[in-house]
Amino acid sequence: MRKFDGDTLLVATHNAGKLEEIANLIAPFGVTVVGAAEKGLGEPEETETSFLGNARIKAHAAARATGLPALSDDSGIEIDALDGAPGVFTANWAETGKGRDFIMAMGKAHDRLLESGAPQPWRARFCCTLVLAWPDGHDEVFPGTVEGQIVWPMRGHEGHGYDPIFQPEGYEQTFGEMDRWEKNRISHRADAFAKLVQGCFG
Ligand code: IMP
Repeated sequence: MRKFDGDTLLVATHNAGKLEEIANLIAPFGVTVVGAAEKGLGEPEETETSFLGNARIKAHAAARATGLPALSDDSGIEIDALDGAPGVFTANWAETGKGRDFIMAMGKAHDRLLESGAPQPWRARFCCTLVLAWPDGHDEVFPGTVEGQIVWPMRGHEGHGYDPIFQPEGYEQTFGEMDRWEKNRISHRADAFAKLVQGCFG
């Protein structure tokens, strides 16, 4: 496992929320975090069919373009009764042509489950894959997951994306009902970040 020994980490995202979350996490290690927008990077097309493939595209493109180690993440939800869909297409299911509509996307997931005739519980998991890539082409990969089930109707207004229909295993609340602190402790992203910190920053 290669350790991060630089003083600046490029975070290959244009999402200000993700950037802040990662900056906070990395802060104790005395590393300066810069975002893709700050470096004038574009958003590469995510043409792969796995979270890992797409996370690699983003991290390696950013590392090559800037000469800095670059961290990317790719995430989504897999629903077992839909053979893992929406998976890497999680964000696409919400596309309307005029921005993203997650109420519509959650309705689509529920409609497909009803069409499938699959009995409840509808098992599902959120997945997050982090890739830390260096300019010389080396990378380290950290997958994270949280298991749970799809519930209907949607519940709660916290969080984002598919949170109101995802109930993590061992909890009565959906991610949409849970306070942010609790969700961030058990989420797929927390799982992957803990592995990243242990592997490359420990
Ligand atoms: P990405 O930004 O390309 O990785 O897209 C991931 C998509 O997965 C987002 O647009 C969300 O719809 C969904 N997603 C990922 N993580 C979460 C989460 O923690 N809660 C709800 N939805 C999520």
